[in-house]
Amino acid sequence: MTALIYSEEFMKHDPGRSHPENPWRLRAIVETLKKEKMWYSPEVQVTPPSPASVEDLQLVHDPSYVRLVEKMSESGTPLDLDTPTPPGTFGIALLAVGGAIDAGEGVVSGKWNNAFALLRPPGHHACRVRGGGFCYFNNVAVMVEKLKQNFNMKRIMILDLDAHHGNGTQDIFYEDPSVLYLSFHQDPRTLYPGCGFIHELGSGDGEGFNVNVPFPPGSGDPDYAFAIEEIFLPLSEIFKPEFIAVSVGFDPLAEDPLTQLQLSPSAYGWLTGHVVKQAEHLCGGKVVFVLEGGYALEVIGEAAANLTKALVGREFASPPEHRRLPVIGELKRLLAKYWSM
Ligand SMILES: [Zn+2]
Repeated sequence: MTALIYSEEFMKHDPGRSHPENPWRLRAIVETLKKEKMWYSPEVQVTPPSPASVEDLQLVHDPSYVRLVEKMSESGTPLDLDTPTPPGTFGIALLAVGGAIDAGEGVVSGKWNNAFALLRPPGHHACRVRGGGFCYFNNVAVMVEKLKQNFNMKRIMILDLDAHHGNGTQDIFYEDPSVLYLSFHQDPRTLYPGCGFIHELGSGDGEGFNVNVPFPPGSGDPDYAFAIEEIFLPLSEIFKPEFIAVSVGFDPLAEDPLTQLQLSPSAYGWLTGHVVKQAEHLCGGKVVFVLEGGYALEVIGEAAANLTKALVGREFASPPEHRRLPVIGELKRLLAKYWSM
């Protein structure tokens, strides 16, 4: 059984009519899943989240930052130009974090085989002491810390498929060798937030446990297929995660208005299929997908449906022939110091 974690409350976070991170994103995804019969299906359970507590947030965020978001949410003062804080933001952000936690705990405890948390606001740009990039609290990072705490997990892998680098997640786990963060994103010289280069490899005990794959603008399915083969599969094979969390953004899609990548909706079928297969091989299939960005309303539903079909074990289109990306060769030379891939 696959869980879809979802609440109508997530629609109430409204950063404004012209803001790309608007409620219509989730509406488009839910409508397509219903049309594709992935919503009321014997393979899928749609389940509402419970809100996270302030203590949960403080597993990864500074208490003073948590209080700041609460205060700004009361007054409606934006965190930054991109990240408005309309009244109610704090409560809905707590529910989003809770959705990620419920997904992780439900899968690890064996209630569901895997899960897809359909939530907003997104989280991967939220650092320990600041938010930004439409993000307030780091949904995936809190989930990961909860799993470490409640299930004594020692090795968790986070795969970030959003087109933007997850600077918040990188920041939170940069010195932590129990969390391997692997991010696929558009070259940071060409896109927000401007970090996520191959030489950012972690520090202290966490050195070697932070891996960035920056794709040149125009990269698409054959390049992602190459990165899965050359980086995700061998790295996960050596790290042997007990759980895989995926920060999934639909903004690498070719139609996305904010980015210059060229992924097709069908890529979300084989990307998910690869991750599920590797999770089955390494950690009893324990994998959770958590929604991050993705702004092309006309295609994100189709991509989400392909993802969900692969989660429930339906057939998906196979990946195209890969294309050799030079930056991946460079990255592998750097990784050789830490991993014998
Ligand atoms: Zn993004």
